[in-house]
Amino acid sequence: MFTSEDCKWCPAVDKIVRKLTGHEMQMVSVTTVDVGIEPEIAQRYNITEIPTILMNEEPVLKGYMSEEMIKDRLWNKFFEILLNKENTLKIRKKTVFDTIQSTLDSLIQKKLIRPTIGDYVHLFALQSTVATLLSLDPLASKLLYQNSRLFGMYGYYQMLLMNANLKLTKAITPKERFYETTKALELLFNNYGLFPNYAVETIQLKEFSENEAYIEVTGNAFSVGVSSIDEPLCHPFAGQISGIFEVFTGKPILVTETRCWGLGDPYCEFKIELGKDSKTIATEFDRYKEDIAERREKFLYLLHDINTNYQNSILMQRQLRPKIGDFIHISVLQEAVTTLKLEDPFVSALLYSAGREFGLVGMGKDIFMDLVIKNGLKTPVDDLTEALPILKELFDHNYLRFSRIYSSMQITELKDDEATIEIYECAYASGLENTNTTYCDFMAGIIAGRLNLLIEDTVIVKEISCHGTGDTKCTFKITIE
Ligand SMILES: [Zn+2]
Ligand SMILES: [Zn+2]
Repeated sequence: MFTSEDCKWCPAVDKIVRKLTGHEMQMVSVTTVDVGIEPEIAQRYNITEIPTILMNEEPVLKGYMSEEMIKDRLWNKFFEILLNKENTLKIRKKTVFDTIQSTLDSLIQKKLIRPTIGDYVHLFALQSTVATLLSLDPLASKLLYQNSRLFGMYGYYQMLLMNANLKLTKAITPKERFYETTKALELLFNNYGLFPNYAVETIQLKEFSENEAYIEVTGNAFSVGVSSIDEPLCHPFAGQISGIFEVFTGKPILVTETRCWGLGDPYCEFKIELGKDSKTIATEFDRYKEDIAERREKFLYLLHDINTNYQNSILMQRQLRPKIGDFIHISVLQEAVTTLKLEDPFVSALLYSAGREFGLVGMGKDIFMDLVIKNGLKTPVDDLTEALPILKELFDHNYLRFSRIYSSMQITELKDDEATIEIYECAYASGLENTNTTYCDFMAGIIAGRLNLLIEDTVIVKEISCHGTGDTKCTFKITIE
């Protein structure tokens, strides 16, 4: 950040930037350069206006801007950096493969990963995680697509699809393989006995030509039941399909979601194009950037929708998917969001930020605030010794536990400004192999967001051990700044 002593706007902008980078974007560090003291640095970067902020040596903003604007500019640049980096990353086949072994055991051998609550989680968890992630920036769509594409390529689908459609193994030309793969998808996903992950209710091939196919998907867990936000929502699903087709046809594949609940349709439709590269995707999402404030507003409504649907689903037994119900295998959630971290550890900051957002506005907030009153407290509360027992009550509340995102939460250390909690059978990480990675940044973010509803000072939550680091539970360290 370039400043000068007599710069009028600098202190205000500096304050906002430090607030963002210290908390929500913890992987970003800020250096200030006073152009009066170090003019040669300013000259090297052609600084003509103060304040100017560069990120990875490229300008992100100049002059005074509101907090919302600064936040958007920083996120946007951050996503760009992340996506460009991703192209140069080596694909970690083995890690993907290790990650899915317990999924297969659970789905096919019926060996439970989570002995107390079983291996299915309410699709509410998937929808709210993806929605808050997307609300940060339209480019999150591409990140989700690319990550899931790897699972399509290196996951277990090939084996399952070949078993489901024996003609697939015998098909020779790319076109034949293209066709047989669509048929295999139909056969696999419509056979719940064979493959009960419940990601979707049905898949049907609608149109097929030389190098283009349309498939219709009903009851897609990523979007079923939400109202229109003028954007498709099922990017992880689209990405996974593209990876699958790439492997079977040996050609580049572009999958575009042409109909979706997010676009106002009561089902999803995907256009699969043979021989078309996915590089064109980034520009496609650019059009969602036009009105950021309006887009955010839409996502807020979307979260509200997801909460209402959850309530109807568990309290009124009004299921979004009459045939198969509203629970999905935890692997659907893990493959879509959790394993983004295999791509790049920096993604943890995104997930944390999204979780924090959800903690501040998402489902369970009303119950949480009611619990505060019931305990005779007023916000803001003094410290963690007051706030954390209420959070524990929230975690113990049946309304949340019905989602089966976790089985239980325990407080293991509690001081005024420091605490440790454990979460058992967390859906984001249970069953994942030890890859020396903590996977539950979204959960850490939720805890931070929730506590920040009660505590004025910034709450920082860090996952210190996880299934992904070889533990049998997830442990979170909570500190107050
Ligand atoms: Zn969709
Ligand atoms: Zn964890």
